[in-house]
Amino acid sequence: MRAMRLLGPRTDLVPSEVELRAPGEREVVIEVSACGVCRTDLHVVDGELEQPRLPLIPGHEVVGRIAARGVAAQRFAIGARVGVPWLGWTCGVCRYCASGQENLCEQARFTGYTLDGGYARAMLADERYCFALEGDRDDAHTAPLLCAGLIGYRSLRLAGDAEKVGLYGFGAAAHIVAQVAIHQGRRVYAFVRPGDEAAKRFAESLGVCWAGASDARPPEALDAAILYAPVGALVPAALEAVRPGGSVVCAGIHMSDIPTFPYRLLWRERCVRSVANLTRQDGEEFFAIARELPLATTIAEYELGDANRALSDLRAGRINGAAVLLPAA
Ligand SMILES: [Zn+2]
Ligand SMILES: [Zn+2]
Repeated sequence: MRAMRLLGPRTDLVPSEVELRAPGEREVVIEVSACGVCRTDLHVVDGELEQPRLPLIPGHEVVGRIAARGVAAQRFAIGARVGVPWLGWTCGVCRYCASGQENLCEQARFTGYTLDGGYARAMLADERYCFALEGDRDDAHTAPLLCAGLIGYRSLRLAGDAEKVGLYGFGAAAHIVAQVAIHQGRRVYAFVRPGDEAAKRFAESLGVCWAGASDARPPEALDAAILYAPVGALVPAALEAVRPGGSVVCAGIHMSDIPTFPYRLLWRERCVRSVANLTRQDGEEFFAIARELPLATTIAEYELGDANRALSDLRAGRINGAAVLLPAA
């Protein structure tokens, strides 16, 4: 089976032939047709996330079809279309798993990080953590929903009932979340890299009510801000932009250090919080919304062998929307 593998941090992925082991009891073999390229993959490849499995096949926005099943795996029929997200396995018994917070399980395993992922022609996954994918959105346009959409949705949920929502870093996640938020009747303010006119126009084309540079102040105070850009300096900037009682939600898994800032930015009950991983419940809720809404994902397609180019395009901010690998192409 052809796959792109990471052999060590800060090195290019290497095209490899890999033998897929037989599926365990609740595992399925999935023929991968599309796999999104997430910023988290960059953090893994760049060594900013510690202790990935090595060698590692990255990728946790996987769309494919069931090709084989373990002896006790009966949830999906052979040929069924499924999605594989970041959360690959949890213990099921710890205090977090027992209280609806499996995203915080300390034993959790993650697709494309501590488990092999979807930068490959085929992969193994535990069927209990896969999502059934219905509807007629094609595989490539569906892939970004598996993380950018899903974690984006969780971050929007954690922003509460905020009506005026700022999105910092207008890439894969923000372009999906903006559509969900607008559909929910919220007003969306897009913050892009200073000088990135293409990102500004892209945000405007999706119906945001304001788009500007991340160092600019929005025309009115926000109820909440969600940070998708992994830039710690945006935390005080976002605090400055939200009203008293408002919140700043950091949605990424890694961020550069947050600079010190005066207490007055936090004062008056503003809060800063992070979003970690996802629960299966988040996924079920989000895919129910995705079925109803004509969510349009903007993608840039790459062949599997061009995974390194996709990663460097993402690193350089050259992609509008989401990069997607097409292993079956
Ligand atoms: Zn657990
Ligand atoms: Zn991701």
